[in-house]
Amino acid sequence: MTDAKTVFVIAAPRAASSNRRYHTDEDCHRLEQSQGYREKRLDVLADGIKECSFCSGEHTPPKGTDTLATRDHLLAMDPDDVGPTGGDA
Ligand SMILES: [Zn+2]
Repeated sequence: MTDAKTVFVIAAPRAASSNRRYHTDEDCHRLEQSQGYREKRLDVLADGIKECSFCSGEHTPPKGTDTLATRDHLLAMDPDDVGPTGGDA
């Protein structure tokens, strides 16, 4: 009975009620740029909170930024193909 998603919310010093978002990807750069964030269960968050557009994949990165493309490429690769071979200890 634990189908509630765990998400991440930025711990703002003052509630920025106009900008409430949750993040589903802990690697989201919004989280990395924040001063801290907390893990929350999606079902305890306020109604109306929206998923971060970066995490949801809706956001189109600015021109000249291919960070997401690079990440997608890495995600598509087989882990065995990443890094030097022989480190199977
Ligand atoms: Zn995000």
